[in-house]
Amino acid sequence: MTPVKAFNGFVLKIHSRCNLNCTYCYMYNKSDTTWRKKPKKMDLYTFERTIEEIRAYAEKKQLPRIHIALHGGEPLLIGNEVLRRFCSLIRATFAETGIDVSLTIQTNGTLLNKVNCGILAEYGVGVGVSLDGTPDVNDKARLDHRGLGSASRVEEGVGILMDHHPDAFSGFLCVLDPASDATATFDYLTKFHPPALNFLFPLYTHDDHPPWKEPDSPETSVGDWLIEAFKRWSQSEASVRVVVFESLIHLLNGGASSTESFGESGRNIVVVETDGALEIGDALKVTADGLTNLGLNITTDSLDDAYDLVNSYLVDLGADSIAPVCESCAISHVCNGGDLAGRFSLSKGFRNPNVYCRDILKLVTHVDDAVRRRQQVLEAST
Ligand code: SF4
Repeated sequence: MTPVKAFNGFVLKIHSRCNLNCTYCYMYNKSDTTWRKKPKKMDLYTFERTIEEIRAYAEKKQLPRIHIALHGGEPLLIGNEVLRRFCSLIRATFAETGIDVSLTIQTNGTLLNKVNCGILAEYGVGVGVSLDGTPDVNDKARLDHRGLGSASRVEEGVGILMDHHPDAFSGFLCVLDPASDATATFDYLTKFHPPALNFLFPLYTHDDHPPWKEPDSPETSVGDWLIEAFKRWSQSEASVRVVVFESLIHLLNGGASSTESFGESGRNIVVVETDGALEIGDALKVTADGLTNLGLNITTDSLDDAYDLVNSYLVDLGADSIAPVCESCAISHVCNGGDLAGRFSLSKGFRNPNVYCRDILKLVTHVDDAVRRRQQVLEAST
């Protein structure tokens, strides 16, 4: 693993609870329980200290561009007044710095309304919405605390956003369901005209294995699902970026990844919890209770300290190199062991191949073949 040179992504947990209770949620329904002791909301003092520290760090590291994501739980539970104050504080803090701040919010979409959409658009906040496909598929897992599905409320929220501030919509995050129809999922999501989609692997580890297959089974339903989605995307006239596929193509051409599913992306991101605690990637909450906690707090410690600690911490857990079987793998330059969560076991840390190893191998081989065939056709026609 290339050591992280500097953080350039900052995930701010402004509200640590959620109005949904998705069955697969890595925050509340997997290994980690630290959320129980966190304050529900980030207070203004912690938020101000966080933004000041990020600005000082970005200036010191001479970062031309950073990404700040407002996150939760469900970040819109913070309320409109505080949301406006937080967004305005970020924009004012960086106004004279020359640093380009890409500001986003990741929401479950159920609480989007005219007022908060207006605030987000006013402060140039890109709105990412989590939606797992057609209502019947989405509502298998994305339920509220009464057990009711969320799809109709998300459709309504995205409709309001698209009616009033379509430029603020940054796209969908979709946790893929291998039992669903990939083509129908792609077609449904693109009906909303998102500029981008990302399909995420369901988060599992070697200790909490994907329930639909035995460990070491040759089953590749996740890879097959992604291949179907890739085919649909390749044939589609919808102009939509699909991050996971674009990243694969970049990696196959020697470029970089912009998804945590492959390559080395995502390791230059730090999470700030509602109490100011600094943590590594929050998706790693699926691995073990408290594993993401660095033991530092942004109100008392520096991001430089956190950066050093993240690197040594990941090395201790074995994330600095891939498993022996991955070293001899023909596609390790693309996969790099896949996402860290899928490599994890309590006994060996990250020193495992991915739980989706066969799926990734099949997908990468398919995309590689498709890209080569396309290049050959293009070369033959010139
Ligand atoms: S495809 Fe499997 S063996 Fe190859 S790098 Fe990825 S996880 Fe390792």
